[in-house]
Amino acid sequence: DTKRVRVELGDRSYDILIGEGLLAEAGTLIAPMVRQPRVFVLTDDTVGGLYADTLSDSLSRAGLAMRMKSVPPGEGSKSWAVLGDVLDWLLSEGAGRDDVLIALGGGIVGDLTGVAASLMKRGMKFVQVPTTLLAQVDSSVGGKTAVNASQGKNLIGAFYQPQLVLADTAALKTLPERERLAGYAEIVKYALIDDPDFFDWLERRGKDVVALDPEALGEAVAVSCAAKARIVSQDETEAGVRALLNLGHTFGHALEAANGFQPSLLHGEAVAAGMALALRYSVRQGLMNGQDADRASRLLESAGLVTQLKRLNGGPYPADRLTEAMKQDKKVRAGRVPLILARGLGQAFIQPDADLSDVREFLNEEL
Ligand code: NAD
Ligand code: ZN
Repeated sequence: DTKRVRVELGDRSYDILIGEGLLAEAGTLIAPMVRQPRVFVLTDDTVGGLYADTLSDSLSRAGLAMRMKSVPPGEGSKSWAVLGDVLDWLLSEGAGRDDVLIALGGGIVGDLTGVAASLMKRGMKFVQVPTTLLAQVDSSVGGKTAVNASQGKNLIGAFYQPQLVLADTAALKTLPERERLAGYAEIVKYALIDDPDFFDWLERRGKDVVALDPEALGEAVAVSCAAKARIVSQDETEAGVRALLNLGHTFGHALEAANGFQPSLLHGEAVAAGMALALRYSVRQGLMNGQDADRASRLLESAGLVTQLKRLNGGPYPADRLTEAMKQDKKVRAGRVPLILARGLGQAFIQPDADLSDVREFLNEEL
């Protein structure tokens, strides 16, 4: 029972298909998109080792040959240099605008593949096959693609939508536990933004999602994708409401930066703590009641995520270090920072000009 979520973007609308074992159907689903009987696949060495054969078999049953390139896993592959290698490879293979480039992997492969597809002959077809929970509920949807620069993360990129997203939830079985929890943090994010019913559901079924119960997992991925699709359809390029997706991310990004973006603190781990901070800051501002903020922290903690700065991997996180990192944000002006705050569970809103010195004081109290 495959679930289908539609991202509505006019003539660039596309489907997200979610199901257990979908990878084996990739060939049938992708065949109608191609002109020549071949597709290009970009993956990383870990994911390729696990799933390239399944994908290749499926494609060949549909009469499609697979040309694959694999990059080393890790943020280092989201680079200008590797992007150049990918483009050289596609050009040397004679890839054209009507060919399909598939991203088989997590957010790193997805982001890299998206930029490559956007640049290749001014845009070739692009399919996301996300294999991490984070990629299935977040990065594969919405068309933000980027590689990193030495000046910072995600500085070189484009908005470029895929034509199809295939999320095979069975592929998550091989995902390391920490990566699974990091993806779960982004699921909780959608509940906290605007879906109190989903929050209640996660209080009951969150443990089944984390345990990869197929029914609960499929439901959580579909609800998350639908939430992101709704927001992206309204605001593709983050002129307005799309900023809500940054709930927990201003604090989270500061935590990651303070830790030097080391793998000791995963993005989702930072976002979990960041969301708890954003809610506690909302309580401190008199916007939200403390019991609701506690409920959110309990939901995250019960899955195994950390919501207290003192216990977070990679610390300590002194307030000054965090606010210094926030100042690097391109939207900071005159000591004011845009923050996503909340009036309740599922009632997030954009606070365009939170006072950084007040935020520093709050973070100091959190230590
Ligand atoms: P990732 O791509 O590095 O994957 C995490 C690790 O898990 C890697 O080592 C990978 O090899 C391994 N892996 C992937 N799938 C596996 C599987 N099924 N079984 C076993 N191992 C598997 O990390 P991620 O968390 O998926 O993505 C992080 C990236 O996503 C960051 O670069 C971030 O900037 C980006 N991102 C982009 C967006 C967006 O909107 N484009 C949103 C959020 C994050
Ligand atoms: Zn995130």
